[in-house]
Amino acid sequence: MENELKHELFKLHPMLKKITNKDTIFWENTKWMKKAKTDLFSMEEVDDAEETLKRFSSYLKVAFPELEESDGFIESSIQAIPNMKVALEKEFGTSIAGQFILKCDYALPISGSIKARGGIYEVLKHAERLAIANSLLKKEDDYAVLATEKLRAFFQQYTIAVGSTGNLGLSIGIMGKKLGFNVVVHMSSDAKEWKKALLREKGATVIEYEADYSVAVENGRKEAEQDPMCHFIDDENSKDLFSGYAVAAKRLKVQFEKANILVDEAHPLFVYLPCGVGGGPGGVAYGLREIFGEHVHIFFAEPVASPCMTIGLMTDLHDEISVEDIGLDNKTEADGLAVGRASKFVGKVMETYISGCYTVKDEELFTSLGLAMESEGLFLEPSAHAGMFGPIQLMKNGQSYLEKHNLADKMEHATHLIWATGGSMVPQEMREEYLKKA
Ligand SMILES: *Cc1c(COP(=O)(O)O)cnc(C)c1O
Repeated sequence: MENELKHELFKLHPMLKKITNKDTIFWENTKWMKKAKTDLFSMEEVDDAEETLKRFSSYLKVAFPELEESDGFIESSIQAIPNMKVALEKEFGTSIAGQFILKCDYALPISGSIKARGGIYEVLKHAERLAIANSLLKKEDDYAVLATEKLRAFFQQYTIAVGSTGNLGLSIGIMGKKLGFNVVVHMSSDAKEWKKALLREKGATVIEYEADYSVAVENGRKEAEQDPMCHFIDDENSKDLFSGYAVAAKRLKVQFEKANILVDEAHPLFVYLPCGVGGGPGGVAYGLREIFGEHVHIFFAEPVASPCMTIGLMTDLHDEISVEDIGLDNKTEADGLAVGRASKFVGKVMETYISGCYTVKDEELFTSLGLAMESEGLFLEPSAHAGMFGPIQLMKNGQSYLEKHNLADKMEHATHLIWATGGSMVPQEMREEYLKKA
């Protein structure tokens, strides 16, 4: 980035100075609209994704016996975490009105993170497309047929490739190998050893990079382009991934109804989503705003070293600005969020949808990791703890947001939904290592 442009940006957006210094920030999105809108995506695509996942449920039950209980649906529960609320209030010396609910994506079946939504969906959709095009499947069929040797042998002709900081690779690898595909995962330097080892054990090819996520994705994309039998799952641009994530919102609506959690004028919903390149939180945010409208207030959470979505939205430059451009190193223990350049597609869609972004320090993630274990017996990976700071940030730095939207007097009846994005697959020795740092 040219110095002159940089100078201009820092003048226009004084908050960039704090971001550069790795101070935590709370940024309010002034483009937020009551009725959010975009030309780039539609709810129809989400409905399609939901239908596709339904068709696959009979296959998924056969392929993953753990899904028997949920009738072939990959979904997570919601859970109240009142003790964590008290622990956070005490630790950070602030009182928070409203109830704390955890969205337990850390416990999603198959791959233990939010990537079990978008990632698995795109693999399934691709498999369906190929099988139908080759007259091996019809939409009316029982999809359990996909678990037969005949279909596995068919998919073995094809390759799926992906670039990842870890969890997306894990989801694509586990699902792709189960169907019979060759899978190539381009892993950034942040990716944890155990994730690579697990993928190799499943039969995926893991290519390691010394560089960060953007380089892993770029190389993966280039390599895949040269092979007509290869499908590249493009975390920076894929609408299929986005659709798969967005299905979560339709299902959450039903879960809230069952649990008697109201979302309306008098009962605002605040949602805190850890953000990397943007697809996961973006898809969920899109769906929630389409369903709950102006009564849901969504904040993205990023590490102080990797606030790519924050700076992309703030400056309107989206993928034309990276955290390195403003002197940050993109090095964080929150490996799932170690992304230096945000998705342009997601950033553009989100313009009128999200309320804002905030950042957290790695030390705070570990503080939260310890508190969650002590107060709720809950283990989440560091990335997933970024969401825990949302209510604190809102109370400490979001008062003007609450007043502007007439929310200040409604907080007693508010719900704070913390999207816990990953952790159930972290091996025991890693957990202990993390807890030692807490
Ligand atoms: C990938 C990931 C995220 C963020 O999703 P993006 O699509 O990269 O924004 C958050 N938490 C965890 C644990 C993840 O693996």
